Amino acid sequence: MELIRNVRECQLWRRGVSGSVGFVPTMGALHDGHLSLVRASILACDLTVVSIYVNPAQFGPGEDLGAYPRTLEMDLQALRDLQVSAVFLPADGEMYPPDYSTFVMEEQLSARLEGQSRPGHFRGVTTIVSKLFNIIRPDYAYFGRKDAQQLRVIRKMTRDLNYNIDIVACPTVREPDGLAMSSRNQYLTENERRRAAVIFRALSDGKALFENGERNAHLIRNAVIARISAEPLAKIDYISIADDASLIEFEGEITADALVSVAVFLGRTRLIDNITLRLKN
Ligand code: AMP
Repeated sequence: MELIRNVRECQLWRRGVSGSVGFVPTMGALHDGHLSLVRASILACDLTVVSIYVNPAQFGPGEDLGAYPRTLEMDLQALRDLQVSAVFLPADGEMYPPDYSTFVMEEQLSARLEGQSRPGHFRGVTTIVSKLFNIIRPDYAYFGRKDAQQLRVIRKMTRDLNYNIDIVACPTVREPDGLAMSSRNQYLTENERRRAAVIFRALSDGKALFENGERNAHLIRNAVIARISAEPLAKIDYISIADDASLIEFEGEITADALVSVAVFLGRTRLIDNITLRLKN
């Protein structure tokens, strides 16, 4: 497994290889969710590149950039075990030299949900992902459905900027109690961790209503809110039931596939999760 620490070296490595290249961008602190993306790439592609980079541009002031978990040695061991071809580990100075001044922005999908709660977040995401796409030039790039809006924003950016890259969506990997795996779960106290299962329970309540024929977005939203509000340690940031493609909120009847997405604080830790409601024809 090649460890590549700078842009030039990565570009040289890319020039020297042939066959299909799969790419998995991450911020490290790898868990089974990340590794499921890596496995999908290894199965489908001749070569797999993983990047590990905690991207300062996607954190807002007062967010957890400084505290973000860093477990590099364990991450590298897990990637070696899976026989990843190369890991790109750029330093901040490589990605954002002091005179850096170019940013990439998607201006529709990015404005909603996470974009409202975390202004500037997607500008950071689309900028780093487009830089990584330019450096690594993958044929396939793997993203988790756990970050449903991010997946949609990246698909849109890929189309709008004519990247010749297939974006592959991978299912959310969950703990046995339903909590979506996340590097941020490490912040939870034991008690918060136990109670965090309420998030998936609430999403599942919403889905069960929908599958029993309920189509009123308010009613489903209220059921999700009620379940989470019953947990005193949980504080809702937003609960959304939106059109799965446009992310525009449903006000009355759900008339197309819907994305139910939530952001919830457990103590000081902000967690996101989502579930899709599919209208069968
Ligand atoms: P991050 O390191 O949080 O930037 O995530 C890197 C990639 O892993 C993103 O495409 C995430 O959507 C994906 N990912 C994170 N958690 C999970 C999970 N529980 N299941 C599936 N994919 C995940």
